[in-house]
Amino acid sequence: MTAALQIPTSPADALVCRNCGARFPLGAQHACFECFGPLEIGYDTEALARVTRADVESGPHSIWRYAGLLPVGQDASSRVDSGTGMTPLIRADRLGEQLGFTAPLWVKDDSANPTHSFKDRVVSIAITAARELGFERIACASTGNLANSVAAHAARIGMPSIVFVPADLEPAKIVQTAVYGGTLVGIQGSYDDVNRLCSELAETDEFERTGFVNVNVRPYYAEGSKTLGYEVAEQLGWRLPGQYVAPMASGSMLTKIHKAFKELVAGGLVPQSSWRVFGAQSAGCAPIATAFAQGWDVPQPVKPTGIAKSLNIGNPADGPYALDAVRSTGGAMASVDDDEIREGIRLLARTTGVFAETAGGVTVAVLRKLVRSGQLDPSVETVVYNTGDGLKTVDAISDGARPTAVIPATLKGMREAGLL
Ligand SMILES: *Cc1c(COP(=O)(O)O)cnc(C)c1O
Repeated sequence: MTAALQIPTSPADALVCRNCGARFPLGAQHACFECFGPLEIGYDTEALARVTRADVESGPHSIWRYAGLLPVGQDASSRVDSGTGMTPLIRADRLGEQLGFTAPLWVKDDSANPTHSFKDRVVSIAITAARELGFERIACASTGNLANSVAAHAARIGMPSIVFVPADLEPAKIVQTAVYGGTLVGIQGSYDDVNRLCSELAETDEFERTGFVNVNVRPYYAEGSKTLGYEVAEQLGWRLPGQYVAPMASGSMLTKIHKAFKELVAGGLVPQSSWRVFGAQSAGCAPIATAFAQGWDVPQPVKPTGIAKSLNIGNPADGPYALDAVRSTGGAMASVDDDEIREGIRLLARTTGVFAETAGGVTVAVLRKLVRSGQLDPSVETVVYNTGDGLKTVDAISDGARPTAVIPATLKGMREAGLL
């Protein structure tokens, strides 16, 4: 008789309240029973520290190479695997030159994920967890990219999905959700209205067997963003950049990159170093950046406007933690208006060949603003996160994007247009 195949166990060992520190067993719970604070995944730090560079490097070319640092997916057959992750880390010398960088500047281009945004990372983890927790249907409240990703991942494993979005979403994001065939519900209201409805629905009997990726499965969902930190470290040759700039909607992603960096140092996978965290929002929805500027610990909710719809969360759940990550590292936050966002999209495209959606425009424009104001140091190696694909938000810049000339197929035509 051979021994049963040993499946590595999860390094996650509890749900921990981010507010009061209370610990709960792992499961489909997202708020603390003691203080109603948000829960996050806690790990056995010794288990995390056992993960080696060789373990990671021998894994698949996707986020699942970091399974030893994630709460689910240690057993490869349990993974909902769309090939997400290991997106390009692009050396952006021409952008750096324009902005006055003397140190390397990198763009982590997450538009290269299967549904063209960073959300494939969080959804891969959330839907894997949802299936393990016994949910039979998957759902989400979305500003657009999450909708695309949830519908696609559900289709891949044949799980029913129900996705809720503000009805005024960009047409490309509606199409890119509907095509996968799940249920898509447009809500007459803002994302914050959509989110409130989903929180209510998650408590109903009818939705008892439905996992809302960013409501009752949120602690798992959020961990997917850590892979944005792990990948950058590995792609830099197992070391950390001195600064990074990330866009903020709820603020979750920014905090999890910081968490990933801390884990890598604690586990000895990268040398000890210090880094500063920078957060980007659009002026049409800047509750976290405003709190930073005002010195508040908790953002005040706003009513979102503006073209960066994927970041339009007026009441950001992770705002206080994003503020903490930025302040504790000596970083900064800023916001930019719609014209600056369009300029950011064009600047990135024209210097790196990367076409970002509006959220990427926000991040690049904020990078430029923070360098100009002296808050971000261009002599320190920096990574800027592009989280989505420009084809999702073409309307935002289509005004200035036309052919240079439209001419007959003749030399005369070329001459008359001044091109010959
Ligand atoms: C969701 C999203 C983010 C960040 O979301 P958080 O809620 O802050 O984690 C960033 N960029 C894009 C394009 C997104 O869709």
